[in-house]
Formats: sequence, C-alpha cells, structure tokens
Amino acid sequence: MEWLFFLLPIAALSGWIVARSHYKKHPILTSQPVSADYFKGLNYLLNEQPDKAIDVFIHLLEVNSETIETHLTLANLFRKKGESERAIRIHQNLIARPTLTTAQRDQILIELGLDYMHAGVLDRAEQLFLELLDKASPSPQAIEQLLRIYQQEKEWLKAIEMAKKLYAERRTEMGPLIAQFYCELAVQNSNVSDSEIMSLIKSAQYYDHNCVRTALLEANIHIANSKHRKALKSLDRIEQHDPLYLPEALPLMLTCYKSINKPTVFEAQLKSILTRHPNMTAARLMLTSIIQQQHGTQAAQDYLYEQLQRFPSVEGLDKLINLGDQANPSLVPLIKGISEKLKRRGHRYSCKQCGFSGKSMHWQCPGCKQWSTVKPTEIHLSTLESLLESHHE
Ligand SMILES: [Zn+2]
Repeated sequence: MEWLFFLLPIAALSGWIVARSHYKKHPILTSQPVSADYFKGLNYLLNEQPDKAIDVFIHLLEVNSETIETHLTLANLFRKKGESERAIRIHQNLIARPTLTTAQRDQILIELGLDYMHAGVLDRAEQLFLELLDKASPSPQAIEQLLRIYQQEKEWLKAIEMAKKLYAERRTEMGPLIAQFYCELAVQNSNVSDSEIMSLIKSAQYYDHNCVRTALLEANIHIANSKHRKALKSLDRIEQHDPLYLPEALPLMLTCYKSINKPTVFEAQLKSILTRHPNMTAARLMLTSIIQQQHGTQAAQDYLYEQLQRFPSVEGLDKLINLGDQANPSLVPLIKGISEKLKRRGHRYSCKQCGFSGKSMHWQCPGCKQWSTVKPTEIHLSTLESLLESHHE
C-alpha cells in the first residue's frame, strides 16, 4: 500500500469534504456494501472531474480497503489522467492478494496490461496479454491489445495470428485488416521471391476479395516480369473494388499500354473512366498527355481548356500552362508561379476518417491508424481558394 502514502495528504485536504457531501446525498453508501454498478455509474459520471473522483475513491478506501472495485476505479482514474505509474502500483498490489477469483485476477491483469500500454512499455504489456491468451476462453480484450501492439511493432505475422482469432465473430472488420497485414508482409522483405509474394497476395485476397492493394502488388510483379497484359487484368479489377483508388493504378496502366504499344486503347479506356468518374483529375491529366502524344499539343490544349471550364483543378491549370499557351506571354509566368506553389502546397492524399492529408500514399493512416481510410484526392478550385486564403494570412 505504499502508493497510499502519496495520496493521503490530498485526501486529507479536500477529499473527505467531497466524499462527505456525496455521502449525504447518497446515504445508502455508508450503510450497505457498495455495488459494482454504483462504481460503474460513478466512474462514468466523474470522468469529467477526475481529481474529485480520485478524492472520493481514496476516502472510500479508507472506509473499506477490501473492495476490489474501489481500487480498480481509482487506478482507472489515474490512468486516464496519464499517471500510469500510480495505476500500475495499485494493480500490482491487487494482483498480490491471495483471495482473488480467476475472473478478478484476469480483469486486473488486463488493466495492468493497459497501464503498461499507456506507459509505453509494450514488451511488458505483451507479456501480460500473452499470459491471458493461454486460457480456455481468452479475453477478446487481450487479443485486441496484442493486435494493437503487433501493428505498432510491425510484426505482421503475429498481427495476422491475433486478427484470425477474432475473424470468426468479426469477419467484415477483421477480413480487410488481415488482407492489409499480408500485403505488409509482401512488401516488408525485398528478397522474397515472386512466388512467395504471390502466395501472400492470394492469402490477402482470401480474407478480402476487394483488396485494392493486392491488385496493385500483383500488377507490379507482372510488370517486373514483362507480363503487361496480365498486369492490366489485375489493374482492371480496381475500379470495381474502389474507384477512388484508380489514380494509383493509372501510372501502372500507362507503363503497360506503352509496353504493348496500344495507346489508342488506353485513350478509349481513359475516356470511359471519365464518363463514369467525371471528377477524376488524375485520369483527365493522363488523357491529356495521351492526346498530346497521339494528336499533338494543340489538340491536347484544346481538350484540356474545354475540360477545365467544367472541371477546374489546380493540376489541370498547371498542365495547361506547361502545354505552352503562348497567347498571353506576360500572364504565363505569373499563373505558372501561382499554380506551382499551389501544387506544392496541395495534398494528394487524405483520410476520410480523421482528415489527415499528405503527399504520399499510406495504407495505414498515420493520423488515426485505421487501414484503407487514406485515399487519393482531387485538387479542385475550391481547394485552390482555401489554399489562397490560408496563404494570405
Ligand atoms: Zn486517419
């Protein structure tokens, strides 16, 4: 009980005042053993006022230090306040009690593991949660925490093992996650053979048929082996899986169509993509390049100029300037300066979950740590305006 030593002064000063006024309003507390529900409710209520809550519970412990719930709630409050060490000490004291039931012991071990997670001592937390996995019916909480740890440590095989334990009951949630972990395995090690990578991709697809990333990985392997038609077949799946990821596939498509020397087929495909997804700036820019190549610069300028009236974008403007419109030479350097600046400031990728945005693709969002929430964005004139505003500040 050495931790109590640190707390006594606080309790003596203000704690019992709060506690006493609380008891007057809830006299049942003083006359009956305290129910677990009371603590649950109180814990919830007092989340907004952790300091006062701590005082109340310290006082309760002075009245009756046998009640495990009181200790647990107090430790929980400390952890929420960021005082992991105090929470750890309370939980370690509790675990040493000889009279605990198995359920109580497991609960305390989980709490202790969470303390270590908060304190950033991941190996300790891992040890505790692994201990809890040895039970006949392991706690889902322990599995979830291990899943978090292994993602953080990029131990994808272990992450897969944990996610599979939850897969039977949570298919739609765990499937895409397991697929991403297999993809991580496929890209983690550069001296894995193509056939090994292909089998990892197959495993990923088994758990998530709509995994865009597997199509991209597959295409890259085919391209490396000069199997461009096969690569195109893989890439064609992406539009059905999730058309928002198409901009990621376009440069690979360009490589393939160049290699098989079918620019007109690509031109037709880009046009049909744009009829289905008229806002896809990336497809419009690529089509412009193909038109320039096939029909000359003037044709490309005419096409893009007309398109930009209906679908304005910074990147489109930048492309148009680079195509070299000489009609108003004095204006060109000015617009060019602006468009280049905006293009640099603009973010190509953003997370629909937390709003993170950045210049490169992340399969796991650096902001919220969710998988497959970061997607390519189009930079439109509305974005241009807000960027200009922030620039003037
Ligand atoms: Zn995010």
